[in-house]
Amino acid sequence: MAFDAEAIRADFPILSRQVNGKPLVYLDSAASAQKPRAVIEAMSHAMAHSYANVHRGLHTLANETTDAYESARDAVAGLLNAAPTEIVFTKGATEAINLVASGLAETIRPGDEIVLSEMEHHANIVPWHFLRERRGAVLRWVPVTDDGRLDVAAYGDLLGPRTRMVALSHMSNVLGTINDARTLADMAHTVGAPILLDGCQAVVHRPVDVKAIDADFYVFSGHKLYGPTGIGALYGKAERLAAMRPYQGGGEMIGSVSMDVITYADPPHRFEAGTPPILEAIGLKAAIDWLSGQDRAAMTAHEDRLYQRVREGLSGANWLRVLGEAPGKGAILSFTVDGAHAHDVAQILDRYGVAVRAGTHCAEPLMRRFGVTSSARASFAPYNTLEEADVFVDALSRTQAFFA
Ligand code: PMP
Repeated sequence: MAFDAEAIRADFPILSRQVNGKPLVYLDSAASAQKPRAVIEAMSHAMAHSYANVHRGLHTLANETTDAYESARDAVAGLLNAAPTEIVFTKGATEAINLVASGLAETIRPGDEIVLSEMEHHANIVPWHFLRERRGAVLRWVPVTDDGRLDVAAYGDLLGPRTRMVALSHMSNVLGTINDARTLADMAHTVGAPILLDGCQAVVHRPVDVKAIDADFYVFSGHKLYGPTGIGALYGKAERLAAMRPYQGGGEMIGSVSMDVITYADPPHRFEAGTPPILEAIGLKAAIDWLSGQDRAAMTAHEDRLYQRVREGLSGANWLRVLGEAPGKGAILSFTVDGAHAHDVAQILDRYGVAVRAGTHCAEPLMRRFGVTSSARASFAPYNTLEEADVFVDALSRTQAFFA
């Protein structure tokens, strides 16, 4: 049965708007996805009907909201095939990675090694640089091949007795490369190192099973998964979370507090100091429920078709350079146009109603690896159509003509 992108689009009110007098063609979902009506309604329904602070009340609204918040945790656990106690809500992937890096900081001695790759987002680089600056850790970098794959043999060579953490992207936000997470995890485990996978992009485009991957930590952001901003999740194996120091201190994360000593709550609450993103959790659950109601394999196939349609449409374009040609990659197209700055490309495309991102994509080491200072990026979602792919190809060809 053909995939019905129009039925998906009908769930996303924003997609019917116009930009610069043209129908919006939103190709920036890798930066942040649009929201289905179910998410918008779940959040406003909570605010209008059932809202209070969580975990501390004995009144009806507090109990209802606590149930809603905890059922959002159950939904994330279901999405990743984890136990709810292994899911910590954070403000996003960035905070989740900072939480892990900071929780491990005291165990890091000068010369201990952290293995990253050239394709990481700054969110999965800078927190580890903190450990270099503050604890004397050494960062080791897995190279990326010319076609945009992780050099797995080189990764194996970088692992050793000093490896304290491996932190790698499951799917690159620039190249679209999808890494073989299970192999990377097995290799990390041969030297006894935990692995953190940055699943910001992968969780959107592929089913993720943290048990099948054998990930120690897995992070993602809600807003790329059709949910709201301000919420993300950290999965940590129970024993890993139990061994980690708290990230922030405050209400809700303690066992008891006296003037002399404190004890901490068990995970996940140990890592959720203060009032959590309650409405955002409710919105994230609605997004996960919405996604679970879709045929995800058909969604992925549709995204791949969109990507192929654009590649075919641009096959004769000798002015185009594509970054990332890994086999099995997801539907993200990063590119440069000869003689044009990526920012200019994005701004001209906007005149045609086409929204793409341009810049370093928070991946400066990767830009350097490919010898560019920036690129433009079109990212495809199930709500995009083949007609939109054609509009993009046409608009990009016209844009290029400005620079020819
Ligand atoms: N990692 C990857 C691969 C990403 O694409 C992003 C978002 N661009 C992040 C991490 C950071 O996510 P956030 O800004 O939502 O914390």
